[in-house]
Amino acid sequence: AKWVYTFGDGAAEGAADMKALLGGKGANLAEMSNLGIPVPPGFTITTEVCTAFYAGGRSYPADLAPSVDAALARMARITGKTFGDERDPLLVSVRSGARASMPGMMDTVLNLGLNDVTVEALARVAGDARFAWDSYRRFIQMYANVVLDLEHHEFEEILEDYKEHHGFVLDTDLGADDWKAVVADYKKLIERELDKPFPQDPREQLWGAIGAVFGSWMNARAITYRRLHDIPESWGTAVNVQAMVFGNMGETSATGVAFSRNPSTGEKALYGEFLINAQGEDVVAGIRTPQNITEAARLLASSDKPSLETEMPAAFAEFVAICDRLERHYRDMQDVEFTVERGKLWMLQCRIGKRTTKAALKMAVDMVAEGLIERHEAVRRIDPAGLDQLLHPTIAPDAQRRIFASGLPASPGAASGEIVFTSEEAEAVAQSGRKVILVRVETSPEDIHGMHAAQGILTTRGGMTSHAAVVARGMGKPCVSGAGSIRIDYTAGTMSAEGVVLRRGDRITIDGGAGQVLLGDVPMQRPELSGDFAALMEWADAIRRMKVRANAETPADARVARGFGAEGIGLCRTEHMFFDEGRIVAVREMILADTENERREALAKLLPMQRADFVELFEIMRGLPVTIRLLDPPLHEFLPKTDSEIADVSAAMGVPAARLRDRAEALHEFNPMLGHRGCRLAVSFPEIYEMQCRAIFEAAVAVGRKSGETIVAEVMVPLVGLKSELDWVKARIDAVAAAVAKETGVAVPYHVGTMIELPRAAIVAASIAESAEFFSFGTNDLTQTTFGLSRDDASKFLGAYLKGGLVEHDPFTTLDTEGVGALMDIAVERGRKGRADLKIGICGEHGGDPASIRFCETIGLDYVSCSPFRVPIARLAAAQAAL
Ligand code: ADP
Ligand code: MG
Ligand code: MG
Repeated sequence: AKWVYTFGDGAAEGAADMKALLGGKGANLAEMSNLGIPVPPGFTITTEVCTAFYAGGRSYPADLAPSVDAALARMARITGKTFGDERDPLLVSVRSGARASMPGMMDTVLNLGLNDVTVEALARVAGDARFAWDSYRRFIQMYANVVLDLEHHEFEEILEDYKEHHGFVLDTDLGADDWKAVVADYKKLIERELDKPFPQDPREQLWGAIGAVFGSWMNARAITYRRLHDIPESWGTAVNVQAMVFGNMGETSATGVAFSRNPSTGEKALYGEFLINAQGEDVVAGIRTPQNITEAARLLASSDKPSLETEMPAAFAEFVAICDRLERHYRDMQDVEFTVERGKLWMLQCRIGKRTTKAALKMAVDMVAEGLIERHEAVRRIDPAGLDQLLHPTIAPDAQRRIFASGLPASPGAASGEIVFTSEEAEAVAQSGRKVILVRVETSPEDIHGMHAAQGILTTRGGMTSHAAVVARGMGKPCVSGAGSIRIDYTAGTMSAEGVVLRRGDRITIDGGAGQVLLGDVPMQRPELSGDFAALMEWADAIRRMKVRANAETPADARVARGFGAEGIGLCRTEHMFFDEGRIVAVREMILADTENERREALAKLLPMQRADFVELFEIMRGLPVTIRLLDPPLHEFLPKTDSEIADVSAAMGVPAARLRDRAEALHEFNPMLGHRGCRLAVSFPEIYEMQCRAIFEAAVAVGRKSGETIVAEVMVPLVGLKSELDWVKARIDAVAAAVAKETGVAVPYHVGTMIELPRAAIVAASIAESAEFFSFGTNDLTQTTFGLSRDDASKFLGAYLKGGLVEHDPFTTLDTEGVGALMDIAVERGRKGRADLKIGICGEHGGDPASIRFCETIGLDYVSCSPFRVPIARLAAAQAAL
């Protein structure tokens, strides 16, 4: 097999479409080389080597080493420097690169090949001893951390002590002799810790670093990240070995990162940061505050540090041209890393940049206007789940802001919560149901789980491209980074700014759009949706086949749903209307009634209230279908529990409390979700559904009269397992409809359908469809009944299933297509056999889940129905499913 692919000097053996083999970084380095963009030469060891490495018990294929040697020889021909040479050494970086970008998961080693001899050679060749020793100390520290597994902070302490002792503030204050002294201390530390000296043989260094990259594929951080992002372990990582270029060669050298468009707003403007005389991750690590790349950004940030544009105009001009070229080539926003070595620009990485959803929308719509992409592509590019971000709260415009500190607007949205200072605490407090803001000096990949648990993230160090900022944007969480005026004391559990001290547990609000940290809780509001959102939604609507409805029963929800473009109500849960104040007593009277007469009296009180509900709903949803589900839950859910609740009902009914208690006792069920609920209630107490149907039909008549439009009601019967059940209920619905038509002189059109939420119903769908005009999959119950898994109790043990990999997803969140989905497929096929024009939808939680929506498309459902705030997500997901 070919294990090694070379790149550089205007050519490459790989290309951008070889990400599976070369990883994202390697494939794009190859592509840039092929485009003639200046990339330091190097080679990529393939992901297949990673797979072979683990298959062979952490050993390499026998013919790997000769291929690496050949590739090193090619680098020597291009650079004129030889790896390990003691007069003019070739130095390399060893960089990981998986197929999907895993920010910060794998660490890079720079300046590899330096030792006590080559460092002197480097100083001679560069004519700069300070630079050489600075490079060496960086190499030792990185190598010790990544390959030798020694703690970062021990090295930091040596450096901090040295600086303090000599009165230095910045790393750039140190000269050659200072770094030489620091290097000596570093080496002593290593020898003390490991009982052997720092490896001097460049080849041993190289293979040590390669092994560490492959080894890091299975470290805990990488495993967590993969789990959170659904990245299969089998993919493996590639290793890139690349000739070093130096951003730390004095004042004409620099290193930086940039986005070809603003990743936060989507604005078409190069956005980036750089540092003069710096190397590698200095920019993102927040060691010094970085400078802006463009003059426009500098002015906007009112920074007094010069931009790259004015500082290095030639390199800047070339950089702008390359970014533009890359963007047109990849037809998408680019996230790039670069270094300037003594005025010469080198590109070190490019990839499709991560962005907020707001930015994604703007870029997609702009790029269609620019002729870069088609509408279909624009629709494909937006992550539907990410639309949630847009619907996130922001701070109300008239809210009072008590500003504690300011930082960078690193990720939009606002959030309030308790201050926590560690990720462990964030997780623990969040698990107890409280909201937290994770506050750190800076974050690292170890904090991913804490960031997940937090509502928002605040850091005191680092720029717009710091770890915290990048990860928070990816998660769609608000983040303020680089709030430099805040001092954190981890030990005391406090942070302070401008004399104000906050403690762990105190509440703050962060505004990730404005970069502000505010005291206490602040009123929030739902954001306005931009024109880009509307444009993209319109394109999505033109593509999708399935309709999107909402699950809603309150007028407020129905209005929101309509505003978000719902094409009707797919599920109106009438029982939600029963819990309202002023009604619950009547509901309880109905349930506790001993005789049909008593029950009818209670129902008569409920009738006008239900009718008024439906009138309002029909009015809001005028012109759109409304599916109303008749009473579903077990009656005991409505039972009075406290003595005062019982007293209320007893007073209203004029019956003794003791009798009510007996009756409640009698209604007790051991397994209520499989008990007396759904259409089973109607079989025992037909008058309940009769009242509900009367309310529906009378409301339809009333609204029809007033508006002059015909209201079509869809009446849905829950928990049907037998055709006979549906027939039994349907006969009564028809009777009520006929009665109302006779009384009012108006025959409202209506349809009777059923939920499919029991396996039996799915299996006998053909016969049920003879009586049902529509089906709606109640996938919450269908999942529960198919798995035999109580949805109210599952969370207690499902976590262990997820952790242990027994299930990939929570089946109540993402449809189990293999089991539950198979039943749905059967029900669709058989149902349409029973009735060719059967309308079929889904109204479980899954109706708003993009992966589940994709499945619904494949089995040919007519619509999905979801909670109002997920309607935009469903519209987009349905469009993508149809593409
Ligand atoms: P990550 O995947 O974490 O972004 P990289 O492999 O991109 O890690 O390396 C991090 C940084 O190290 C790069 O942004 C770049 O600044 C620096 N770097 C990597 N390789 C080289 C090189 N050959 N010459 C100079 N700098 C390099
Ligand atoms: Mg990194
Ligand atoms: Mg990088």
